[in-house]
Amino acid sequence: MSSEEKAWYQLSPNEVAEYLNSDVHQGLSHEEAQRRLAEVGPNELVERGMKSPWRILWEQLTGIMVVILIISAVISVFLHEYTDALVILVIVVLNALLGFTQEYQAEKAMAALKKMAVPKVKVRRSGHLVEISARELVPGDVIQLEAGDAVPADARLIEAVNLRVQEAVLTGESEPVEKRVEPINVEHLPVADQRNMVFMGTVVTYGRGKALVVRTGMRTELGKIADMIQSVGQESTPLQKRLEQLGRGLALAALGIVAIVFTLGVLRGESVRVMFQTAISMAVAAVPEGLPAVVTIALALGAQRMLKRNALIRKLPAVETLGSVTVICSDKTGTLTENRMTVTVIDVAGHRVDFQEEVNYYQPESDLHPHPLLTGQPSVALMLLGGALCNDATLEPAEEGGRHGFAAVGDPTEGALVIAAAQANLLKQDLESLFPRVQEWPFDSERKRMSTLHRVEHVKEWPVALSSLRDHLSRTWERPVQFLMFTKGAVDSLLEVCDRVWVNNQIQPLDETWRERIVRANNTMAQSGMRVLGVAFRPFWDGDESDSSSKAEESGLIFVGMFGLIDPARPEVFQAVQVAKTAGIRPVMITGDHPLTALYIARTLRIAEDGRVMTGRELAQLSVAELEQQVEDIPVFARVSPEHKLKIVEALQNRGHIVAMTGDGVNDAPALKKADIGVAMGITGTDVSKEAADMVLLDDNFATIVAAVEEGRRIYDNIRKFIKYTLTSNMGEIMAMLLGPFVGLSLPLTPLQILWINLVTDGLPGLALTVEPAERDVMRRKPFSPKENIFGRGLAISVLLIGIEMGVISLLAGLWALYTGRTETWQTMIFTTLTLAQMGNVLAIRSDREPLIRLGIFSNPLLLAAVLLTFVLQMAVVYVPFLQNIFRTRPLPLVDLLVSLVLSSVVFLSIEAVKWVRLWRSQNR
Ligand code: ADP
Ligand code: MG
Repeated sequence: MSSEEKAWYQLSPNEVAEYLNSDVHQGLSHEEAQRRLAEVGPNELVERGMKSPWRILWEQLTGIMVVILIISAVISVFLHEYTDALVILVIVVLNALLGFTQEYQAEKAMAALKKMAVPKVKVRRSGHLVEISARELVPGDVIQLEAGDAVPADARLIEAVNLRVQEAVLTGESEPVEKRVEPINVEHLPVADQRNMVFMGTVVTYGRGKALVVRTGMRTELGKIADMIQSVGQESTPLQKRLEQLGRGLALAALGIVAIVFTLGVLRGESVRVMFQTAISMAVAAVPEGLPAVVTIALALGAQRMLKRNALIRKLPAVETLGSVTVICSDKTGTLTENRMTVTVIDVAGHRVDFQEEVNYYQPESDLHPHPLLTGQPSVALMLLGGALCNDATLEPAEEGGRHGFAAVGDPTEGALVIAAAQANLLKQDLESLFPRVQEWPFDSERKRMSTLHRVEHVKEWPVALSSLRDHLSRTWERPVQFLMFTKGAVDSLLEVCDRVWVNNQIQPLDETWRERIVRANNTMAQSGMRVLGVAFRPFWDGDESDSSSKAEESGLIFVGMFGLIDPARPEVFQAVQVAKTAGIRPVMITGDHPLTALYIARTLRIAEDGRVMTGRELAQLSVAELEQQVEDIPVFARVSPEHKLKIVEALQNRGHIVAMTGDGVNDAPALKKADIGVAMGITGTDVSKEAADMVLLDDNFATIVAAVEEGRRIYDNIRKFIKYTLTSNMGEIMAMLLGPFVGLSLPLTPLQILWINLVTDGLPGLALTVEPAERDVMRRKPFSPKENIFGRGLAISVLLIGIEMGVISLLAGLWALYTGRTETWQTMIFTTLTLAQMGNVLAIRSDREPLIRLGIFSNPLLLAAVLLTFVLQMAVVYVPFLQNIFRTRPLPLVDLLVSLVLSSVVFLSIEAVKWVRLWRSQNR
């Protein structure tokens, strides 16, 4: 399957198809495609960045802390402390296993996310257009391309309509290249000059086309330079970077403390060997080695949870930034509304047709010819004809409630027009074959209109429904019309290219009076929330170049009338807007639609209370600095083009906002990249917008953004809780060791005891904190700044205070044992009290504000299980003789155990008491 002597671009489409044993119209059969897939493998670039399980294990075993421990185990061997060496190794292995499973799980979650991010492709198989994952493409497949698609493989074009492709990934050239179909008879053309080929990883910016896949996967041009492709982000997140910094700082501090303990101990006359082991254990205790890993795990698992709520995270940092979002800029159509468009009004000069029912489905009624909608109404026929022809949606067989009929496939706005025409028995496929499209000017959101040119001269028999229209046309121009051009789009945009208007089947100049009337009719419809689309047309004839009517272009058109389409607001968005507002997040609507339509929907959803709308035109006249002055007060931007979005993001960011911005088109990509959280649409979005985005909404729903923000806040909270827990625990151990000598308890804990507390008893409850459910008020408080210090909001103080408290209480337990004459068990008392105090600590840390009882003791069952397990393990270490030997513990008499329990619960009680006092005070305020 390759051309030996000639390159693909030198062959004609049919030759290429022949070489590839495929068919330009039918594509491959399903079976053949399966066979080829098995032969050449999936169409994907070899994965980099994904960590193999071995690599994860290796990293676990080579962490600083583990290396320290292994060294100390080796030293213990030299000192003939074989049990110690063994126990240290066991702890190392346990710890590595725990870390490994967690990280492996996180990697798997990320891999699953990556898989979901693979784009879908429209491909012809066995003659039908189907959508498959780009991974399943094989050479010989016939694919369809349209603006916004990422080209999924290297392919030879067989059809190109205004097709422009941006190939910067391969050629470095950022200007899109115009593509064509003809073979090029030159040898050794560089990629940039292969104008009839498209390449994997490049992007269609305009037009549409069809192509035959010639190379897939690593054999593509991109495959040859695969390292350039970006995939789901592996970069560390800002939080991770800050934590790495924090870790380094603490490690340094730990070193200092260890040096002090060591020196003091040796000066006190302890043996150098004991002090050495103690110092190492303390170093291990002080360094919060688990932090960066836990953050990764929390973020990756958080991303997985967000996926369950229909938010696909493409870049991990988004998970933590989401919680800080202060403004959500959202598209209207499809995100705030259902994108279930229905034509409800057709307004032509002097006549208005109302469609009563909401239909998005058509059932043929063969005996109604012509349909009552059209009787004596050539202008309505013209509207329906233009609406259906100047249109890329199609009518496909469908079934609804057991009835057979047709449903529209494609852009919902266009689909509505196709359905409306079908209701008058004008079926799109019939119209298309009758009046073939010979030229087109695709829709774009700058022009806000599109046009198509159709050949009509050869049609002898027009459909009955259109016969009176045909009569009027030929009467008006006195010669048979050869071509008809139809333009549809926003009314203001149409008026720019119209100079005549079709009134009661006659053509009149489009003077000021008419313009005003049309604008008024448009406004009336828009005010009631309708999306308005105008239709205009113009006849053309072949002729010599001097004849102005021979060159088809968007000008000199005849305005016919407008469609009013209803697109209801999504009911769940109303709730989501309320939630966002309570959470201190401002929703802003940005739309290409008419200001009045926008305002109506914005009011329905309570996004806007007053009438403040800024239009794209006003926006264009403002500098970013000027926009900054007003941007806080504007809830709705209408008639906006994608490039305006960038300006809005900048203005908001300059005012210190963290901006989430939605977008679906090719031109939205820059704004999505610039926004703190770029949000693409999973259903209607283009590949380009998805690639630029941090997050993809699988259901295109605004409410999903708000749900993701809630998850983001919860994850950030839980990471903070974990940090707080680890640091307080470490602080407790260090304080006990530091303060011990001052009250005559020279070595309060043995090295193994320190390791035990630090690695085993801390680990399980700590991890369980990352699955802590969201606090009741997560969406009732203002967003926290992402630049906020991790130690902000009193974290440093409480770590210090609780740490000291834990240390002191454990020492008190030891002292109590000594003074009641149990010189054997004082160390076990300290050890046990410290462990138990940490269990109380972890329970209390579950919320900064809410007391545990109000939170529900059982609302984090995993944590409860971890606490109980730790308790049992601790009892085992204290009471099982074999373990007593290893950890140098003595069985505690029941009284001592009770005293230890009571003392350790002081930590829990004191933290809870502070919460109650605060709660009481805030309620009395
Ligand atoms: P939105 O932000 O609501 O998605 P768009 O940029 O899609 O806005 O559309 C802006 C305007 O362009 C619409 O109000 C409509 O008048 C017009 N328009 C939208 N889709 C089409 C289309 N397929 N063909 C012609 N005009 C369209
Ligand atoms: Mg749109």
